Amino acid sequence: MSKQEPPHHMTTDDFRRHGHAVIDWLADYHSQIESFPVLSTVKPGEIVAALPGHVPTESESFSNVLADLNDVLMPGITHWQHPSFFAYFPANASFPSILGDLLASGLGIQGMLWQTSPACTELETVVMDWLAKLLDLPERFLSSGMGGGSIQDSASSATFVSLLAALHRASNGDYNRTGVRRRYTVYGSTQVHSSVERAVRMAGLGTDNLRLIDVDRRTLAMRPELLNEALERDRATGCTPVMVIAALGTTSTCAFDPVVQIGEICHQQGIWLHVDAAYAGVAAVSPRFRSVNAGLEYADSYCTNPHKWLLTNFDCDAFWIADRRSLIGALSVLPEYLRNASSESGAVIDYRDWQVPLGRRFRSLKLWAVLRCYGAEGLRAHIEHHVDLAIRLAGWIRSDDRFQLVRQSLGLVCFRLQDEAKTEPLLLAANATGEMYLTHTRVDGQYTIRMAIGGTATQRRHVESAWRRISKLADKIGRAQ
Ligand code: PLP
Repeated sequence: MSKQEPPHHMTTDDFRRHGHAVIDWLADYHSQIESFPVLSTVKPGEIVAALPGHVPTESESFSNVLADLNDVLMPGITHWQHPSFFAYFPANASFPSILGDLLASGLGIQGMLWQTSPACTELETVVMDWLAKLLDLPERFLSSGMGGGSIQDSASSATFVSLLAALHRASNGDYNRTGVRRRYTVYGSTQVHSSVERAVRMAGLGTDNLRLIDVDRRTLAMRPELLNEALERDRATGCTPVMVIAALGTTSTCAFDPVVQIGEICHQQGIWLHVDAAYAGVAAVSPRFRSVNAGLEYADSYCTNPHKWLLTNFDCDAFWIADRRSLIGALSVLPEYLRNASSESGAVIDYRDWQVPLGRRFRSLKLWAVLRCYGAEGLRAHIEHHVDLAIRLAGWIRSDDRFQLVRQSLGLVCFRLQDEAKTEPLLLAANATGEMYLTHTRVDGQYTIRMAIGGTATQRRHVESAWRRISKLADKIGRAQ
């Protein structure tokens, strides 16, 4: 038998040494990130083939892990923090956030109950109230009343738990016991995020009961009069409308649904209104863009993602609810092994009842670090800088008669070639340069390039050089038959 006592942990001294190496590695990575092609070019299976098929028998040094990260994994990394990453929406990382996340990992706590780490719960409450005030959200979302905020892993989860809360409210709690007994219907625009359909499926309502309401052709926003008609039709056939999802900043083109009009309809008819502002909501840190969140006084629940455009590493969705009782009613289950005096006193929040998983990470630490290290002014500057770049890019596109500007909304610019059929080849050619990463959507059935400007390190020179390259490629593709 081995003389060594199991388990064979890394020593504190080695942890310190490797930890310094990891921070050095990350600092070098971020300072050299522009030397990498933005989009990974590995083929499917290439990374698997380069890795051993089993766990090493003998322990290895962490240096080997770092070496393989360099040699094996790095070619398979798409560099989301590259300043010329313009795909999808940004997924901001920042140094304060990375450090906050590292501390959360290092503390290794699991904050399912207040009692399992009071600071984890209470910091989250404070940080969510801070952010609500910074975004100028309605007071009823603050923890001092019946509402409150929590950090979810994603906007998809926020939509799902909102739907469960809405079902709980609409059924006076029966949904918990009986499941779907009535024909509950859910409404969003044709542009609503795919997570809504998933939420409807996961809640057991069935996609036949999801109504996708047409949008205005110019604004791409939900038409409230069509929502009203759909609600009337459904009620006439015995359905129970349970939730409307309004988007502030749709994924495809960053369109804004008319939340005030939609909210009035929901308010009159007692329907839960969830507002999904996953990308755009954080823009309200700037007084210039406060109006992005107009109409929230009608919302029962609302979310926006600091992990997209507010400098906070994935995952961090900020989710607020106006009356937490429906959410807790929908999700609280209390087995004996979780009982404790603090929960029973009613004086504490147990965020396990606000989300799908039981366990929870100490995510507020990274958001706290971001809010403190940037301050309101730094956050405002971050957002405004990108919107100004997007406005500038939109101007260049507008004044080039080979292109059509489809839409510029906040940091997102959507455009195509006048010759629509050549737009996809243009996008593929631009991505193949390794100098940028763009993605696409379809607007009115037409292929459209999306260029989302919002990377933590994105500066004017990155947008200018991407545009110069796109413009040259457009010449080349235009000449090709
Ligand atoms: N809602 C909208 C409007 C989005 O744009 C996105 C993602 O881009 C989502 C929801 C999903 O976000 P998450 O990845 O946080 O679930």
